[in-house]
Amino acid sequence: MIPQKTFVSPKIIFGRGYLKKLATVLLEEKIGNNIVYFIDGFFTNSGFEKVLTFTGNELFFYVDTKEEPKTEDIDKFVSNIKESMTSQSDVIIGIGGGSVMDVAKAVSILLTNAGLAEDYQGWDLVKNDPIYKIGIPTLSGTGAEVSRTAVLTGPKKKQGINSLKSMFDYIILDPELLQTVPKEQRFYTGMDCYIHSVEAINGNFINNFSHAYADKALQLCEEVFLGNKGDDDLMIASMFGGYSIVYSEVGVCHALSYGISLAYGIHHGEANCIVFDQLDEYYPQHVQLFRKMLNKYGIQLRKGLTKNITPKLLDKMVDATLLMEKPLSNALGANWQDVFTRKKIKELFLKM
Ligand code: NAD
Ligand code: ZN
Repeated sequence: MIPQKTFVSPKIIFGRGYLKKLATVLLEEKIGNNIVYFIDGFFTNSGFEKVLTFTGNELFFYVDTKEEPKTEDIDKFVSNIKESMTSQSDVIIGIGGGSVMDVAKAVSILLTNAGLAEDYQGWDLVKNDPIYKIGIPTLSGTGAEVSRTAVLTGPKKKQGINSLKSMFDYIILDPELLQTVPKEQRFYTGMDCYIHSVEAINGNFINNFSHAYADKALQLCEEVFLGNKGDDDLMIASMFGGYSIVYSEVGVCHALSYGISLAYGIHHGEANCIVFDQLDEYYPQHVQLFRKMLNKYGIQLRKGLTKNITPKLLDKMVDATLLMEKPLSNALGANWQDVFTRKKIKELFLKM
């Protein structure tokens, strides 16, 4: 069910101002000159690219992240790169939150694997080695920097390209990049890390590896959101939360939250918070602590989202949830379908 071996991204550097080390990394790793940058649209016209490496043969894509990445976006990026670059790209660099990092991961795969991005949504469907890729997070919590998946919304489902080939080859962690993140976004994405760790620790797939990372990530989240720790620790928490699920799985919250994102276009972190607030039955103590953080941070969650929902849309959300077999068996056991019925899922959605 879960990966039988532990894989963590091999090379990571961490430190304030380390974005500037990108040039050295490219040299040391003997990467060629054909560089493709994916940068979160927030940084457009920010002068941000001045610190990046120029070889005279690079492509820049400023990614609009108002909506989470779609499989069709990946297909467009890939054909654009193939048309614009005369030879194969040497490296894909993703600079942004989970959305942009996932775009970079997926593009690196689709450049060397035929077909459409939607063909690879699922577990271990990628055959060919991807283009070398570097991840540089500017928002912390998703753990996308270290995870083995690139989450995409396709025509039929929101699901990741779950494959070892999704993992970055190199990661640059520079907490200075987090300084412009708005308060609400910092909370929502930070809670993604908290919830990954809660779901790993409470799941059936847990082992010592995942437990140790999840435990530390939970402690750091508490210190960041209830205490006085800052972005450096949030960045480490995100990575540890990511590690905790590389060798485990998420749970009930993520299974339901994909349905919320699909139906209402609400970003992952916020959708998770809306769902988690209704999960006392599954994660009682952690939901209590979550509410403490929510209050301390002064966040008002959206309420009454599903008040006027049509039966058709509700069914679509239930269908999306039922696809999440691994998270649900992690959370509820192999016979999860006996307890997590369509009726039960609808009841939960109708509280949101
Ligand atoms: P995001 O990447 O969607 O970004 C959210 C917002 O934050 C955007 O408006 C963006 O412009 C802004 N932003 C990013 N960095 C900023 C900065 N430094 N300053 C100011 N604004 C900044 O948010 P996210 O929560 O990091 O990622 C969500 C996505 O990640 C979803 O698509 C989700 O499905 C995916 N995800 C992936 C994994 C994985 O393992 N691959 C895990 C969890 C979630
Ligand atoms: Zn998540």
